[in-house]
Amino acid sequence: MQRDDCLFCKIIRGEIPSSKVYEDEYVYAFDDVSPQMPVHTLIVPKNHYDNIAAGIPVEELGHLFAAVEKVADIKGVREQGFRTLVNTGAHAGQTVFHLHVHVLGGAPMNSGDP
Ligand code: IMP
Repeated sequence: MQRDDCLFCKIIRGEIPSSKVYEDEYVYAFDDVSPQMPVHTLIVPKNHYDNIAAGIPVEELGHLFAAVEKVADIKGVREQGFRTLVNTGAHAGQTVFHLHVHVLGGAPMNSGDP
């Protein structure tokens, strides 16, 4: 259930290079190409959903968020803390319309940070 014309589907398929952080049967995680923090990793479901309001089954949603802890561990921010962020729709600033969870950290953050 992927799309030919979707940037993140192409990354999952390896058609566009990415800096892989973690992968399992359900999700793929890679570093953001334009990091807003020292740690900035994106976790995406392998199946295409435009965003979190596009009918992702709860089981896949569970796998997506279960990967957050794994990514935080791999990136070394689990103990110090990190931020997770999901933009939904253009109004919220979503620019890539394949559901993704941002994992941000590696430095102290304020409420106005990304
Ligand atoms: P959004 O604004 O929540 O949709 O986040 C999209 C994110 O994807 C942004 O932080 C971009 O920097 C990131 N991004 C866009 N293209 C690529 C890419 O080719 N590789 C990795 N990250 C990307």
